[in-house]
Amino acid sequence: MKNKMSIKKDDQVVVLAGKDKGQRGKVLEVMPKDGKLVVEGINMVSRHTKPRKQGAESGILKKAAPMYACKVMRVCPKCDKPTRPASLIKADGTKVRVCKKCGAEI
Ligand SMILES: [Zn+2]
Repeated sequence: MKNKMSIKKDDQVVVLAGKDKGQRGKVLEVMPKDGKLVVEGINMVSRHTKPRKQGAESGILKKAAPMYACKVMRVCPKCDKPTRPASLIKADGTKVRVCKKCGAEI
């Protein structure tokens, strides 16, 4: 079964599980093949950077790591609640995503 991703880049999401549970962030990147995404400020990992040239600073770089899309839920921009969007086919045949809670197109 193909896992369909309903989350797109720039969506607001809330984390449902793990150490960042309850936190919100903006989706920076989606990786549909892996079922993963990168969320701003979530699942931060430290990377040690080595100076590439003399005099350059070395240190620890914080970076958001990819996480499983099933661990997050979209936040409706209208009612500000976590929601799973429902697909709705309009009279003219176009498909839209709507919030199940307030009915807004999201
Ligand atoms: Zn809503």
